[in-house]
Amino acid sequence: MADPKGFLSQRERELPPRRPVPVRIMDWREVYDAQDPAQLQRQAGRCMDCGIPFCHEGCPLGNLIPEWNDLVWRDDWDEAIERLHATNNFPEFTGRLCPAPCEASCVLGINQPAVTIKQVEVSIVDEAFARGTVRPQPPDRLSGHTVAVIGSGPAGLAAAQQLTRAGHTVAVFERADRIGGLLRYGIPEFKMEKGVLDRRLEQMAAEGTRFRPGTDVGGSGEGALSGGQLVDRYDAVVLAIGATVPRDLPVPGRDLEGVMQAMDYLPPANRAALGEEAAGLVSAEGKDVVIIGGGDTGADCLGTATRQGARSVTQLEIMPRPGEERPAAQPWPTYPMLYRVTSAHEENGERVYAVSTNELVDDGAGAVAALRLEEVQMVDGRFTPVAGSQREIPAQLVLLAMGFTGPQQAGLVEQLGVELDDRGNVRRDDDYMSSRPGVFVAGDAGRGQSLIVWAIAEGRACAAGVDTFLTGSSSLPVPIPPTARPLTV
Ligand SMILES: Cc1cc2nc3c(=O)[nH]c(=O)nc-3n(C[C@H](O)[C@H](O)[C@H](O)COP(=O)(O)OP(=O)(O)OC[C@H]3O[C@@H](n4cnc5c(N)ncnc54)[C@H](O)[C@@H]3O)c2cc1C
Ligand code: SF4
Repeated sequence: MADPKGFLSQRERELPPRRPVPVRIMDWREVYDAQDPAQLQRQAGRCMDCGIPFCHEGCPLGNLIPEWNDLVWRDDWDEAIERLHATNNFPEFTGRLCPAPCEASCVLGINQPAVTIKQVEVSIVDEAFARGTVRPQPPDRLSGHTVAVIGSGPAGLAAAQQLTRAGHTVAVFERADRIGGLLRYGIPEFKMEKGVLDRRLEQMAAEGTRFRPGTDVGGSGEGALSGGQLVDRYDAVVLAIGATVPRDLPVPGRDLEGVMQAMDYLPPANRAALGEEAAGLVSAEGKDVVIIGGGDTGADCLGTATRQGARSVTQLEIMPRPGEERPAAQPWPTYPMLYRVTSAHEENGERVYAVSTNELVDDGAGAVAALRLEEVQMVDGRFTPVAGSQREIPAQLVLLAMGFTGPQQAGLVEQLGVELDDRGNVRRDDDYMSSRPGVFVAGDAGRGQSLIVWAIAEGRACAAGVDTFLTGSSSLPVPIPPTARPLTV
C-alpha cells in the first residue's frame, strides 16, 4: 500500500468530466473526457489495500484491484497492465461498460465514497495501448488441437484468446458481418467507440485466432456449416451464442408499424452512426419515442433516439422507482438496486415507473400513434392495476427493451441436441461442458442475459474446461464455476 493515509487525505471521489450534454448529443463519440493523471493517481491512492479486499469478491473476474491501484499510485503503469491482464482479457470493455460490482463491495464504501476502481482500470489499459505495451502473445508451440468458437461477443472472444494462447488452433464464427457480438452493434458508440474493440481484435488476430464473420452456423445460407459438420471438423466447440431471443409484449397493437424490438432498432442505428450501410434503419427524428424497459438496453435506445433528434423520449418501467440509498435488505457489500443516472438519462428523456402497457393505439393507417398505460402496484407478489390510472401518451416509435429470454434454439442448438435448463439456457457442468461431450457453453447462452464481466469470466473459465478436455490438464485460470453466485449482480 503506497499511501497509508490516502483515504484520509483524499476523501472525495473524483471522476473524469463528461462532455457537455449539448455538445455530446451532436455526435456519437464517447461521453467522457480524459482524466487528469494526477487526479487519477490521487484516487488510486485512496485504496486501503484491505486485508480482506471485498472488491475481489464483488468482481466475477477476481481482479487484483488493490495491486493495480497501488501500482498506478506509484506510477508503474507497465506492471499495472500486467496485473490487470492477469485476470481480465479485456479491461477496456469492463472499464467502460461494467456496472462495477467491485465498487459496490469496496470496503471504503462503508463510510466514504468507494474507490474509483473502474476508472483506474480503464485508465491503465488505455495508457498501455497508448504506450504500445499491449502486444500479441502468440503461443510458443501449437498443440495440434482445433477449437470452433461460435459467437464473437465477450464470452467467445475471451475463450478464444485463452485457448489460442494455450496453443490450440481457434476459429471464431460469427453470424454478423463483423466480429464483436453485442459490443459491435448492440452497445452504441457513445458508450464504447468501436476502435476500442478493433485494436483488441488486431492483437488477437496477430496471436493466431482466426475470425470467420458472416457465418451463421447451423443456418441455411450459402456456405453454411451445420452443427454436425462442426463437431466432425473440430476437436472441441464453444457455444458463445448469447441470449438473443427478446422478450415480447403481447398487447393489442403490437404489430403496428413503428413498434419494434430494441435489438432491431439499435444495430442499424449503430451502423448508420459509424457511416456504414444500415439496412432497416428506423430514425427517431421528430418522433415521440416510448421505450418499454428500464435496463441497459433501454438506456442505449434513449441515447440513440436523442442523437437521432427525437421530439420526446419516455422510458417506462414496471418496477417502482428505486431509492438513492442502499435499501436495508441490500447491505454492503452486496450490489444494491439504486436509482442510477446513466449518461443517456443525463441527456434527455423522462422515466416513468410502476406502469404497465395495456395497448398500442393505431393512427388509422396501421402505424402506432399512442400508448395506453396504467399504474400498477405490487399486491401479494403480483402487479395489480391502480383503479382509474389509465392514460395515453403519444408515441410514433415504441421500442421494446424488456430483456431476453435465452439463446436461440432453432438451428445450431437443436442440431447439436444439447440439453437446456429450466430457463431455456444451454445446460453445462462445472467445466462448462454441455450434455454433449466436447461441446462447451459460455456467457449469456448458458447463464442467461447478464453482463460483459460475467461473459469474460465465463469465457476464461470455459477455456480451462476445453483445455483440460483436449489435453488432460490445464494451467489456465478458472475465475468462476458456472453455479457460483457471489455477492455480485
Ligand atoms: C443493448 C445492450 C446493451 C448492453 N449494455 C451493457 C453494458 O453497458 N454493460 C454490461 O456489462 N452489459 C451490457 N449488456 C449485456 C452484455 O452485452 C451481454 O451480457 C454480453 O454481450 C454477453 O456476451 P456473450 O459473448 O455471451 O454474447 P453476445 O455478446 O450476445 O454475442 C453472441 C454472438 O453470437 C452470435 N451468434 C449467435 N448464434 C450464432 C450462430 N448460430 N452462428 C454464428 N454466430 C452466432 C451473435 O450474432 C452474437 O454476435 C447489454 C446488452 C444489450 C442488448
Ligand atoms: S475494497 Fe476498496 S479499499 Fe479495499 S482493497 Fe478493494 S478497492 Fe481498495
